[in-house]
Amino acid sequence: MNEGTVTLTRLERDPNSLLRLLVMVGIIAMLLILSLTGYGIYRKAHNEVLLAAEDDAVRIATVMVEEHNEFLFSSGQDNIALSPSQIDLFNEHVRKFLHPFSIVKIKVFDLNRIIIFSTEAKIIGKKVENNPRLEKALFGGIDSHKETKGAMIDLVDEERFDVDVIETYLPVFNNEGKISGSFELYLDVTRYRDTVNDQVVSSIVLLGIILFLVFATAFLFVNKGVSQLKKLLDRLQKMAVTDPLTGAFNRGAVLTRATEELARMERRKAIEQGIHLGVIMIDLDHFKAVNDTYGHQVGDDVLREMTNRVECCLREYDVFGRYGGEEFLVVVPDGDFQGALVVAERIRFELNKAPFACGGQKLPITASFGVTCCTNPHEGLNVALQRADEALYQAKDDGRNRVVGKE
Ligand code: GH3
Ligand code: MG
Ligand code: MG
Repeated sequence: MNEGTVTLTRLERDPNSLLRLLVMVGIIAMLLILSLTGYGIYRKAHNEVLLAAEDDAVRIATVMVEEHNEFLFSSGQDNIALSPSQIDLFNEHVRKFLHPFSIVKIKVFDLNRIIIFSTEAKIIGKKVENNPRLEKALFGGIDSHKETKGAMIDLVDEERFDVDVIETYLPVFNNEGKISGSFELYLDVTRYRDTVNDQVVSSIVLLGIILFLVFATAFLFVNKGVSQLKKLLDRLQKMAVTDPLTGAFNRGAVLTRATEELARMERRKAIEQGIHLGVIMIDLDHFKAVNDTYGHQVGDDVLREMTNRVECCLREYDVFGRYGGEEFLVVVPDGDFQGALVVAERIRFELNKAPFACGGQKLPITASFGVTCCTNPHEGLNVALQRADEALYQAKDDGRNRVVGKE
C-alpha cells in the first residue's frame, strides 16, 4: 500500500449501497410478508367456509334422516334402504326442499357401499369400492373438501358453470344411534368466493400500505443518514489527502498521485516514446531564519503564499504537494527533462518576481530546485526522488535560488 492511500470499505466507497440494500431487503420482505399473510388469510377464510358448510351438511342430513326415517329404515334398523317407489318420493322431496339450502347434489350409501339414492339416477345401485372418505364416514367420521367444478346440473336441473362445491361425507345414524349408512352432500359455496377474495385483497392492500409507510419512513431516515455520511466521507477523504496549512496535497497524496501518473504513462507506453514524468523538488532558502526573525505565524503565511505562487505556474494536470516542512514536490506528467527544467524556472521566476507580503513585512523569498525525470517505471518513483534530492543539494551548495537538473 502506498503512503497516503486510504483503504475504503464498500460502504465508504459508495454510501448509496446502503440505500440499495435497504430497498432490496424492503421489497423482498414486503413480498414475503404479503404473500405469506395473503396465503394465511386465504387458508383461514377457506377453513371457515369449509367448517360452516360441514355444519350445514350435518344439520341438513339430520333433518333428512328425521323426515325420511320411515323410508330409510323401512327394511330394518341396521342398514338403510329405499324401494323404487320410495326413491321417487325421496327424489321429489330432496329436489323440492333442499334446493334453497344450496345443495346441488346428493348421494346416499348403505353399509354395503351401494348407492341407494343419487340425484344422478343412473348411478343408483352401483357399489363404491376403495373410497377412503366414504369409509371414514361409515366409521363415524365427517370428511369435507372443496372442489371447483367446471359445469354441473343442480337440483332443479339447471346447468351451472364454474361452481365451488364442498363435498361432505357423513354417517347416517339409526334410531339406536348406530351407523347404518352415509350421505354425501354437495353444498354450493360459490357465493363465498368473492367474500374470501375480498378479505384476502383488502387485508393485503391494508398491510401493503402499512408496510410501505414503514419502509418509506425507514428509507427517508436512512437516506438522510447516508447523505450526512457522504458529506462526512467527502470531508474525511479531503482531509486525508490535504495538507491543513497550505491546502495543497500532503506528502502521501502527492506520492500516490505521482505513482498513479507513472502507471498511467506506462500503460500508454508514453515512457517508451521518450515522454517521462518530470519531478521537481523545491526547498525554501533560509526558511529557518524567517521563522526565527518574524515568528512561526509569518513562516506559515510564507508557506501559504509559496503554495499560491507555485499553483499559478502549473497546468491543471500537474501534481503539486507539500513534501515536508518547507519542501514541496511538483510532478509534471507527459513531460521530458527539459520541460521539467522550464517549469522549475517558471516557478523560481514567480517567487522572485515580488517579495512576499506576509505579517506586514515584505520578504524576499527564494527557493532552490532539484529537477529530474522518471524514465523507468520499474525503477519506481523513489529512485527519481533520490536524484531530485541530490540535485536540490547541489542547488543549495551552488548558492541557492537556482534550478539544478540531474537526468
Ligand atoms: P536551507 O536554505 O538550507 O534550506 O535552510 P533552511 O533554514 O530553509 O533549512 P532548515 O531545514 O534548517 O529549516 C527548515 C525550517 O522549516 C525548520 C522548521 O522550523 C521550519 N518549518 C518546517 N515546517 C514548518 C511549518 O509548518 N511552519 C513554519 N512556520 N515553519 C516550519
Ligand atoms: Mg528543508
Ligand atoms: Mg530550506
